[in-house]
Amino acid sequence: MASDAVKETLGFQTEAKQLLQLMIHSLYSNKEIFLRELISNASDAIDKLRFESLDNEALLEGDGEYQIRVSADKDAKTLTISDNGIGMTRDEAIEHLGTIAKSGTASFMQALTGDQKKDAQLIGQFGVGFYSAFIVADKVDVHTRRAGTTAGEGVLWSSAGEADFTIESKEKPTRGTAITLYLKETCLDFADDWRARSVIKKYSDHISVPVMMHKPSEEGSSEPEWEAINEATAMWTRSKTDVTDDEYKAFYKHISHDFEDPLTWSHNKVEGKLEYTSLLYIPKNAPFDLWNRDMARGLKLYVQRTFIMDEAEQFLPLYLRFVKGIVDSNDLPLNVSREILQKEGAVESMRSALTKRVLDMLSKLSQSDDYGTFWSTFGPVVKEGLGEDFSNKDKIAKLLRFSTTHTNDAAQTESFDAYVERMKPDQEKIYYIFAENHKTAAKSPHLEYFREKGIEVLLLSDRIDDWAMMQLGEYEGKKIQDVAKGELAGDNEETKKEQEALEKSSEGLVERMQAALAEQVDKVRPSLRLRESPTCLVVGEYDMGAQMRRIMEAAGQSVPPSKPILEINPEHPLLKMLDQEVDEDKFKDLALVLFDQAQLAEGGQLEDPASYVQRLNALLLKMSA
Ligand code: ADP
Repeated sequence: MASDAVKETLGFQTEAKQLLQLMIHSLYSNKEIFLRELISNASDAIDKLRFESLDNEALLEGDGEYQIRVSADKDAKTLTISDNGIGMTRDEAIEHLGTIAKSGTASFMQALTGDQKKDAQLIGQFGVGFYSAFIVADKVDVHTRRAGTTAGEGVLWSSAGEADFTIESKEKPTRGTAITLYLKETCLDFADDWRARSVIKKYSDHISVPVMMHKPSEEGSSEPEWEAINEATAMWTRSKTDVTDDEYKAFYKHISHDFEDPLTWSHNKVEGKLEYTSLLYIPKNAPFDLWNRDMARGLKLYVQRTFIMDEAEQFLPLYLRFVKGIVDSNDLPLNVSREILQKEGAVESMRSALTKRVLDMLSKLSQSDDYGTFWSTFGPVVKEGLGEDFSNKDKIAKLLRFSTTHTNDAAQTESFDAYVERMKPDQEKIYYIFAENHKTAAKSPHLEYFREKGIEVLLLSDRIDDWAMMQLGEYEGKKIQDVAKGELAGDNEETKKEQEALEKSSEGLVERMQAALAEQVDKVRPSLRLRESPTCLVVGEYDMGAQMRRIMEAAGQSVPPSKPILEINPEHPLLKMLDQEVDEDKFKDLALVLFDQAQLAEGGQLEDPASYVQRLNALLLKMSA
């Protein structure tokens, strides 16, 4: 049994080893954060014990006075951070300190570039944690004992932060964890009591347990006294006016492990039928695993200031999974579990109030210059809400930002309200085009008519967009219409007449093309949309759009077969030429080329590209003949 072994040397998990090395190199310019991380871990460990001891007071071993102690030793060149929290067993130490359990770590490692600045950013989003100790230390000892075990079950984990670590039994009379850093020669300033004190103060004022350091001793006095250097009250229980912006930001970093400041936050105390306090933050950066279905999400839950659990997902919907924060309830029982949370009526009410709170926060943020940053990072996630949260659909719609033909820029800056304000007097619908990327959308032949008439079209290219627009359907009574769907002529009387005239004048050509392309298209119809381009493809009003179809197929979903409609521009020289062609074989070849081009123009892939090239080459050769 491993737990009987006296001293073992074990290797770090590959990813842990890589991360460790990268962290040491990338974060060197930001050394002091190791203190934030270690104090944060100590405070989490105390939170965990406080929670477990609710059911099992024996775990406290008679010592319910939680605290974190930091001591610097200039002569030994060490800094020790100790807590009387939950501690670790031998197996836990091996598991928690030797491996990285986050899902998606391997793909995260691949995203790293080797560029220090960029990687420091990425590692910041990943969360550095315990390994940050190795930024300043060339050896780290972790002496720990799980609460509730005997002194003899203490263990000493030790590593120089390279390939491996050792673990051995070492008696520990008190529960909890003491981490000793053997400081690098270049980092000895942290062994200076005053230096350590100022950094620790900065990172611990929001922490609810006291962080103790030695009182500066009088000359000659021997026994050093401990004193708390932070406020040690749960930060969210203080009144808003007493908390500084810096304290809010520090607390955010504590709970999120993010490096950067949050974009904004909202701190509220709710009294009445339900009593709770919430402190919610909007981050600046996406976590590395935003798109991972199992990503850590949810709020930290406290009940009457006692930490209950991390990642309480029940308090916010999935599309707000990027929100960080805490909620502290006075109504929930202290022994609340995830299962109970799912059934508890109070949780449902809190969830709906907190959701509104976040949407209001975003609405306020949308008035500021920071919104662009937010939207470019989290926009696609917010759009999920259109399907997920029907009751807040209107609020979510107001948060959306788009690229449009009005700005002609890939940046998504325009709101529905701005669009509506610019609508033509007789325009009834909000138009959009959906393509694989911004460029394809912006250059689509489908836009020619709209550009000529000066009608604005939203240029959509986020994967979720087509679906999102279908969920929404309309905005303030105005139908949202895909320009590549249905008949343009349906839109008003004038265009209806134009369409009829066009159909009459192109009857013969349309019939011949329909016969030639019977396999490829549902039908051929003359188009009002086109100005410069000869052809484009559209689908029926209620059919799945072409881009959506491609996405579904790429995701391996079966999509019911359906043929597109080929719209033609009878005024275009190529179609005039086609109309003159008497040889039916040549007619068919040219018709097929035009059909294939329509697919290419909207970013589609040809079923038989070789034949397309062959036909096109034959036509090119004829030019010189
Ligand atoms: P994170 O805190 O994000 O999980 P860390 O790398 O900081 O990642 O820590 C890894 C794990 O090691 C923690 O989740 C915890 O289980 C354990 N751990 C770290 N520090 C302590 C401590 N002071 N007391 C008890 N357990 C700890």
